[in-house]
Amino acid sequence: MPGCRAARWSRSTQSFTLSKQAVQKKLEKLGLRTRTDFVLHLPSRYEDETALTALDAVPPGIPVQIEAKVERAEIAYRPRRQLIVHADGVVLRFFNFYGSQVKQFRRAAEEGLRVRAFGEVRAGWFGAEMAHPRYRIVREGEPLPDALTPIYPTTAGLSQAKLRERVLQELDSAQLDDTLPDALRRRYALAGFAESVKLLHRPPPGADLASLAGRSHPAWRRMKFDELLAQQLSMRFAYRERRTRQAPALPGNGPLLKSLFKSLPFKLTRSQSRAAGEVLRDLAVAHPMQRLLQGDVGSGKTIVAAIACLAAVDAAWQAAVMAPTEILSEQHVRKFSEWLAPLGVRIAWLHGGLSRTQKKEALAAIAAGKAQVAIGTHALVQEGAEFKRLALAVVDEQHRFGVQQRLMLRKKSGTAVPHQLMMSATPIPRTLSMTYYADLDVSVIDEMPPGRRPVKTRLFSSARRGEVLTRIRDACAEGQQAYWVCPVIEESKEGDVQTALDTFDKLKKELKDIRVGLLHGRLSAAEKAAVMDDFTKRKTQLLVCTTVIEVGVDVPNASLMVIESAERFGLAQLHQLRGRIGRGASTSDCILLYDEPLSDLARDRLKVIYESNDGFKIAQRDLELRGPGEYLGARQSGDPLLRFADLERDAGLVEAAKEAAEALIGSDPDAARAHVERWLSSRRELGHT
Ligand code: ADP
Ligand code: MG
Repeated sequence: MPGCRAARWSRSTQSFTLSKQAVQKKLEKLGLRTRTDFVLHLPSRYEDETALTALDAVPPGIPVQIEAKVERAEIAYRPRRQLIVHADGVVLRFFNFYGSQVKQFRRAAEEGLRVRAFGEVRAGWFGAEMAHPRYRIVREGEPLPDALTPIYPTTAGLSQAKLRERVLQELDSAQLDDTLPDALRRRYALAGFAESVKLLHRPPPGADLASLAGRSHPAWRRMKFDELLAQQLSMRFAYRERRTRQAPALPGNGPLLKSLFKSLPFKLTRSQSRAAGEVLRDLAVAHPMQRLLQGDVGSGKTIVAAIACLAAVDAAWQAAVMAPTEILSEQHVRKFSEWLAPLGVRIAWLHGGLSRTQKKEALAAIAAGKAQVAIGTHALVQEGAEFKRLALAVVDEQHRFGVQQRLMLRKKSGTAVPHQLMMSATPIPRTLSMTYYADLDVSVIDEMPPGRRPVKTRLFSSARRGEVLTRIRDACAEGQQAYWVCPVIEESKEGDVQTALDTFDKLKKELKDIRVGLLHGRLSAAEKAAVMDDFTKRKTQLLVCTTVIEVGVDVPNASLMVIESAERFGLAQLHQLRGRIGRGASTSDCILLYDEPLSDLARDRLKVIYESNDGFKIAQRDLELRGPGEYLGARQSGDPLLRFADLERDAGLVEAAKEAAEALIGSDPDAARAHVERWLSSRRELGHT
């Protein structure tokens, strides 16, 4: 046993000093490569080590710094292995420790040295105790630091001390020129760049801990402003750069478009006409359009897309329509066939149900320019198809793809760029659209086609499931149809499918006289299409499904929707789901079933969806309750796009940065470039050129 212990010790001792290479790796993991990276690696918090607290005057629950003479250090094995340091009046415990630390404390005890420890003091077995304090061995009377201690974001195995030393070293040799002209700094009352970073890395004695910790200090304000400004500028550079590229000019006054307007089965709403007008105006110009068409679920975006496609076909070009799911692509095919096929427009549908030969034929028709409009999922259209003359790409439900994916797509596009029309039913809250969508032009459809009935939303605890079944029976007896939506189970990929299967079996037994269909993600494209077809044709009355129906599905006769464990869904998602009903002649009900007990947050969220039918309001509340991750797509990549500024809390700065970006790019484009360079060059790029 003793031998074994010794081996463990020496191994730990070795690993205590990291090789240069290992340090380098850890720094890179933190995204620290260039000198600027280090300069902008700002402390996440500060600790006040400028004073000592007497052990008998320690306030409970607040980290303090104490100092005590080291008496002895020992390793205990029960209840778990730990290093216990006895000092005068206090015990320090370390559960993860290196052999070198044991030696350090033993030597300190022999030499009569003291330990300064920072952390929370608690009453423990032996009296006052601290678990895992940050500490330093000192001689008696050693002076205290006279300024706050910055604590940096770091990674396992890279100590604060080492990281701090390196950051400060880089800071001292870095170029800290101010990228902002004096006039602009005065206008927005901004602190200087050099003075701000220096202050944040080395707060002077007496600096205000509260404003540094709360990030309201003028130095922080400057950092946030700079970050937001860089973001704004990069979007504007992208916007300008787009105007230098060529795209086919599509005049929008051809015969097909004229016939479509004559043959449409309905009159466009005012906002549809306005949006279509904006799109056609963009398409007529020989630079690539990048327009986002926003409109709540059911507001009628598809017809605007069809109009845009027709402008391309009229000018002897092709258009592609990409949808996030096969079901949705099928719906598009149905609508497009209804509207465009009578005009002689040839449509190709790329879907998973095609045989190899059929797929080859479709791709050949697209490549030869015979198919004028191609419809499919993003995967199919993007990977498979080569167009002869592609002038327009329509991306439906673009909110499914985070900001990052969209910006990536932008980078990929080559020199000859087709026009892009993106459509989204998820309203983007204002601060977000000002930052991450600033490179897009936006059209909004803000009214519903006539005859839409508002959906009544009801909240039922799952204990009232019996009542819900009765409602389904009643609705079906009146010739209506219903959806039953099962939740996605986060923990397992296939879990939601299993839930849907179980629910399907259960409901079939509970609702003997009702014809029940089942739709979930594991079905093949052909199976899904068949299930949807049965439902559309009223062969089935109740459709049990997972969120695969979230987007775009349009069955006007369905007037009841039950969403099980509604508290597990995102707000925008619930709103989307709810938008599937309320499309027909009868009033519609959406029943949100929830499982007790509900957390406060879940209760607040369900309340939002219960009280509001306005997609914009819901999105705004969702943003406040959950943060912007959902919209940004940052969750998947784990790389937040903004490090210091907070879109909600710093909304005022977002406005200021937007205004400043406009001014700077006009008055001093070189300064604007230099600013973007400093802030974005080595970060995961936001797509600036
Ligand atoms: P979304 O914006 O959610 O994609 P859709 O384009 O699918 O909405 O339109 C929803 C339904 O409304 C479709 O059945 C569509 O044909 C119909 N529609 C669209 N515009 C009008 C209109 N101006 N008048 C009547 N019905 C319309
Ligand atoms: Mg749609």
